[in-house]
Amino acid sequence: MTRLEGRLSGRVALITGASRGIGRAVAIRFAREGADVILVARNQAALEEVDDEIREFGVTASLVPADLTDFDVIDRIGAAIFERWGRLDVLVANAGILGIMGPLAHTSPQVWDQVIAVNLTANWRLIRSVDPLLRSSDSGRAIFVSSGVSGGRAYWGAYAISKGALEAMVRTYAAELAKTNACANVINPGATRTRMRAEAYPGENPDALKPPEAVTDAFLDLAVPECTRNGEIVTL
Ligand code: NAP
Repeated sequence: MTRLEGRLSGRVALITGASRGIGRAVAIRFAREGADVILVARNQAALEEVDDEIREFGVTASLVPADLTDFDVIDRIGAAIFERWGRLDVLVANAGILGIMGPLAHTSPQVWDQVIAVNLTANWRLIRSVDPLLRSSDSGRAIFVSSGVSGGRAYWGAYAISKGALEAMVRTYAAELAKTNACANVINPGATRTRMRAEAYPGENPDALKPPEAVTDAFLDLAVPECTRNGEIVTL
């Protein structure tokens, strides 16, 4: 099968949370644009379904069925990508969890730790692991996914706080990348029809929301070599 020519032809992209929702849509879009993709999530069967869809674009998908709270796995990802591909051009750090909504004082330590681990610490561990690869790419692009509640919102608990800290982390990282060929930005996708959104708003009609495919243009714009933005929060 001939590889499709697109805006990411010949690039290698790592996408977390690629088994469903926004990450899945971004993975398929990037593959359609010619990128070889490395897909991380826990659900292997769902990753294999994404792989089946991507195959027709003539690119390669490498599946990494892993829990991102297993930080040792993240530590090994950078070296494994270097061995297999010799490069990484794009990181889409998208995986996230909502946790349990409710008053902050009622948040259990277990839920707190899990939300902070997936939404914040795993993304910092990813930066540690793939930073040398992004810097050695001719145009490394890191994209992180935040939320409209990142400034803090009643009853959104650890989720809101994790996203606020994530934005501070990306601004910090972006400033450190300022004199390099790499850059880092944040996307706030806005209300999107996914499992997480349904969890947060169980009474809502999902048909009234945009599908995940509708947000992939914004990810593509931040992933291409021509992107000159750095340290920005792009709100859709
Ligand atoms: P989703 O459908 O629930 O998808 C979440 C993804 O994260 C899944 O692929 C899931 O895969 C993965 N994931 C969760 N925990 C993981 C873990 N421990 N290890 C590895 N992968 C894990 O949610 P979504 O709406 O697409 O969310 C994607 C991002 O957008 C999140 O960062 C979210 O905060 C953000 N966001 C979404 C909305 C919205 O309206 N949907 C709005 C603002 C921000 P597995 O279960 O297979 O591991």
